Amino acid sequence: MTRAGGDGSGARGGVARCERLVVKIGSAVVTDGTSLDAAHVGRIAGEVAVLIKAGRQVVIVSSGAVASGCEGMGLKTMPRKIAERQAAAAVGQSLLMRAWSSALARRKLVGAQVLLTDDDMHDRARFLNARRTLETLLARGIVPIVNENDSVAFDEIKLGDNDRLSALVCGLVGAGGLVMLSSAPGLMDKRRIVPCVTDIEAARALVRPGTSGVGTGGMGTKLEAAQIAGEHGTTTVLVSGHEQDALTRAARGEVIGTVFDLAGRAGRNQRAARKSWIRHAARGRGRVVVDDGAARALTARGASLLPKGVVGVEGSFAMGAVIDVVDPHGTRIGRGIAGYASDEIDKIRGCKTTEIRRVLGYAYCDEVIHRNDLVVTKKESGS
Ligand code: GLU
Repeated sequence: MTRAGGDGSGARGGVARCERLVVKIGSAVVTDGTSLDAAHVGRIAGEVAVLIKAGRQVVIVSSGAVASGCEGMGLKTMPRKIAERQAAAAVGQSLLMRAWSSALARRKLVGAQVLLTDDDMHDRARFLNARRTLETLLARGIVPIVNENDSVAFDEIKLGDNDRLSALVCGLVGAGGLVMLSSAPGLMDKRRIVPCVTDIEAARALVRPGTSGVGTGGMGTKLEAAQIAGEHGTTTVLVSGHEQDALTRAARGEVIGTVFDLAGRAGRNQRAARKSWIRHAARGRGRVVVDDGAARALTARGASLLPKGVVGVEGSFAMGAVIDVVDPHGTRIGRGIAGYASDEIDKIRGCKTTEIRRVLGYAYCDEVIHRNDLVVTKKESGS
């Protein structure tokens, strides 16, 4: 998995040169398990401030809301019950933000709380809105502090872990580098840190199940995050959050922890990033059934889905929602962003594109799903 003698210097250099960094901080780094460790927050804020003064833009993804809230909840260990975790997050998130804001303020920086749920990644309109918010903050030199909106995100709409969230945030802001500060010093192969991963499957073979006990994710979710980040064109470096200056050194491109050299050139392509978002961030909210001709056109030619090829629509969704495309046999062949809401698609199905305006009284676009917004999940066999 490491290139001969490779320490990933090339990929590390990319992280050192990129303007925008996402820094993900695990619960085990900013808490002692049941209460906030303000000194650690302060130390990392100091490193972030140095990066910003050097002209870089930093988005922080900070875990630790649940753990920080335990003390206030009168709990001696991390709660298991969902309702208690959510309540602890409500207590802890404000403590966490206060610690970040005051640590940044001591360095003359302003922090901003951005709480996201899976829905914000799932719905294109909300995704774009979150992106605008982050862009506006960064343009003003403000440091976004992102976390999952734990106290409202129940299982169905939960991203689950901040490793994945941080990778999705990389896609949101087009970050060149993701530095993950975790309780582990990197990916371990027996007792040695693997300096560079180029093959994610080989890396997975080294992972044993289990987590540090405080955070939600384990090494498995870190690898998944590195892979998703790579698809967005972001290089991930995993380092120990307990090591002095680990962030500074990773951001400088020094050989520390594990670098995931997975960000192919194609990952920088905007369209690839958009398709990766559809594939990873999105769960189909509804579906359209297409006829055989349309199924062939989509899977064999990568065509757009036009109203003519739609024979049915299931579920209730808004324009901009991610929906599944199924063939007449019920097999999912693709997933994409709906150009129209479900009730509109129901009215225009079977119509020619020139008839949309007559039927609806308006027309946003010719396609039910534009080819640029469509990911084919099943290629046509034998074509
Ligand atoms: N959002 C959770 C928290 O702040 C952490 C999730 C995770 O550890 O990945 O407590």
